[in-house]
Amino acid sequence: SIEVVEIGKRFGDFVALDDVSVSIPTGQLTALLGPSGGGKSTLLRIIAGLESADSGRVEIEGVDATRLPPQKRNVGFVFQHYAAFKHLSVRRNVAFGLEIRKRPKAEIRAKVDELLALVHLEQFADRLPSQLSGGQRQRMALARALAVEPTVLLLDEPFGALDAKVRKELRDWLRRLHDEVHVTTVFVTHDQEEALEVSDKIVVINEGRVEQIGTPDELYDKPANDFVMRFLGPVT
Ligand code: ATP
Ligand code: MG
Repeated sequence: SIEVVEIGKRFGDFVALDDVSVSIPTGQLTALLGPSGGGKSTLLRIIAGLESADSGRVEIEGVDATRLPPQKRNVGFVFQHYAAFKHLSVRRNVAFGLEIRKRPKAEIRAKVDELLALVHLEQFADRLPSQLSGGQRQRMALARALAVEPTVLLLDEPFGALDAKVRKELRDWLRRLHDEVHVTTVFVTHDQEEALEVSDKIVVINEGRVEQIGTPDELYDKPANDFVMRFLGPVT
């Protein structure tokens, strides 16, 4: 599991995270859900090690990661505006993490083929990222994050910039991918429907605090307070 224990984070006088504690189960797909400015990205970045907390600790699979740099945490991440290497093919982009780790060429080739098949981009292997659609690019980003076999996959609104139809396709696809790979995945969204439809567990975050943690059914049937009820209420 990922154990977030009493994490506090301020930006100047502003409290972005107010003693947040969350337990994220191994192998599940967990959503961090809440309104804009609530602290979702900040929490994800602290789990990734891209931002340091003022207090509290983060454990990843029993290891105290609080003071570890991102590259020692064995996490893969994908952000909303994913930056690909524009001059490298899709194949080379996916291979990147393996190449810098100096894995044998044959091993890289086999692994990248497997990943491209997983994200259904086999036929686009030799294209440049600029020759892909937005949704295809995000799938490439996921393949790249998975290449180094992370313990944890962290996604910050990976489909946020896409139109509603593609977004829905990708979120359903993420669910299927997760059912195949079972890597512990935490994804940020401010979209209630997205969280309710695909996740095993939802953490509702608002104004730097956790309002509720539960399965989609638990949140929907038994909202802990008015905020959760209103936020999940009228799904459109
Ligand atoms: P959104 O859904 O809009 O992405 P979020 O839940 O991801 O929102 P965060 O990005 O975690 O929210 O930001 C939480 C709060 O902390 C916001 O009020 C934001 O303005 C503030 N904040 C985040 N990063 C910084 C920073 N580097 N300096 C100052 N304030 C920051
Ligand atoms: Mg955010």
